[in-house]
Amino acid sequence: MSQATARPARNQVTGAWADGDRTPLNANEAFKADDDGLNVRTRIEEVYAKEGFASIPGDDLRGRMRWWGLYTQRRPGIDGGKTATLAPEELDDEFFMMRVRSDGGALSNEQLRVVAGISTEFARDTADISDRQNIQLHWIRVEDVPEIWRRLEGVGLTTAEACGDVPRVILGSPVAGIAENEVIDGTPAVREILEKYIGSPEFSNLPRKFKTAISGSPNLDVAHEINDVSFVGVEHPEHGPGFDLWVAGALSTNPMFAKRLGAWVPLDEVSEVWRGVVSIFRDYGYRRLRNRARLKFLMADWGPEKFREVLETEYLHRPLIDGPAPDANRLRRDHVGVHPQADGNFWVGVAPIAGRVSGTRLTEIADIASRHASGRVRLTAHQKLLVLDVPEGEVEALVAELDAVGLPARPSEFRRGVLACTGIEFCKLALVETKARAHTIIEELEARLPDFDVPFTIHVNGCPNACARTQVADVGLKGMVQSDADGNLTEVFQVHLGGQLGSTPQLARKTRALKVAADDLPDYIERLARTFLAQRDGEEPFAE
Ligand code: SF4
Repeated sequence: MSQATARPARNQVTGAWADGDRTPLNANEAFKADDDGLNVRTRIEEVYAKEGFASIPGDDLRGRMRWWGLYTQRRPGIDGGKTATLAPEELDDEFFMMRVRSDGGALSNEQLRVVAGISTEFARDTADISDRQNIQLHWIRVEDVPEIWRRLEGVGLTTAEACGDVPRVILGSPVAGIAENEVIDGTPAVREILEKYIGSPEFSNLPRKFKTAISGSPNLDVAHEINDVSFVGVEHPEHGPGFDLWVAGALSTNPMFAKRLGAWVPLDEVSEVWRGVVSIFRDYGYRRLRNRARLKFLMADWGPEKFREVLETEYLHRPLIDGPAPDANRLRRDHVGVHPQADGNFWVGVAPIAGRVSGTRLTEIADIASRHASGRVRLTAHQKLLVLDVPEGEVEALVAELDAVGLPARPSEFRRGVLACTGIEFCKLALVETKARAHTIIEELEARLPDFDVPFTIHVNGCPNACARTQVADVGLKGMVQSDADGNLTEVFQVHLGGQLGSTPQLARKTRALKVAADDLPDYIERLARTFLAQRDGEEPFAE
């Protein structure tokens, strides 16, 4: 073979480190190669917090600060039509979104109060529960960041690697360790990964973000089908309870479900196998084009058999044990409502609309939870919140008090099934409003269909990035802008119908021509819901 043909064509170069050439092939790879994202912390504390926003150079401002959970937020008043046309510095406000990790969604009463206090003191009383069990605060000034970190870290919380090309918050079952029907409690594995690898330079430069989920709940409550690596509780016929390994799921603009590797992993080996999977991503993941860098693209080329073989031979140096798949089921995944715990107490799951709360509301929750229960809470991957350890005799008083502050434990199906991403209020990539839109839709539907009583999910997204999982909802809404007859830009939503996770996961059908004006969404969804009810066969879900 001649040298000319041996050299890969430019468009075949993946930029994977395993190819032996670490030359950065795009701007993000370049700034990561220049300096590890984690190193920005010292500059924030010693320079930027003292000298202010203007002192932050671009690579830190829009790049490395994400490694510590900080994104610049969108300047108010810029409409969605300008999102793609303005330069990043024109979209930036001088404030930050701060994402606080709560791995496994677990927060003690003290932690909840500290986050609530930070919200009211430094974040204009903002707080959103994300669908990755984080709490997101807005309006953060860089001057306040060191003090916020001091308070968070004083109660064992962190913003380390909450954003950036790193292992993000680890999703965990919100009922880990308390559920009656649990296969296995994954909490020790979550803790081990956190302690060993989060904030470590070993994985602080991945090709893109890396999402982990670990749940031993038969409710399959962490959306394992759409995480980069998931450990799902299963009972092995010979070895007992452990985890089924799933790899390389993600939605966004090229949605792909995770693949089962057919391997069973015992609890005490989860962190080792996790390390192997992340290492494959770090070494073999594509780094040339950012929109091809997620692990799903490597999996699309390799397939699950090769992925398992590389994991076993190059990283674990031993074979994995074959194992069973989790039981297909249609259990509710969100844990909303009143449910018995294994210890005789109850948990109460409530539904803020699309995860929107506030610092004031979080303090109220902390007060109610400590008055009637242990004070512990958990956040869910469905933008919901659970109060744990409620004695039977306290349940109804607690439910009534939460209801009085707008947090129903027995919500409508619409409120229960809605998710919304951050949207144009704060997100620089957004095209349309989402949280307030979701609020309006839910209130309208509750008024028009007060007796609607079957599961029905509505996911509202501000752009094609699908942070609120456009493609796996009964009604997935993707925000867009288009010109009306007079040339004015209007907010519309492209509708995706019939997506679902679960026993038969399927991506929603996208109807290219079907775009609904934002103001017409309540009418449109009402018609869909009425038709669904009228044509439903038995327990059939919307997707079927
Ligand atoms: Fe922002 Fe788009 Fe994600 Fe919504 S889906 S949070 S608008 S990037």
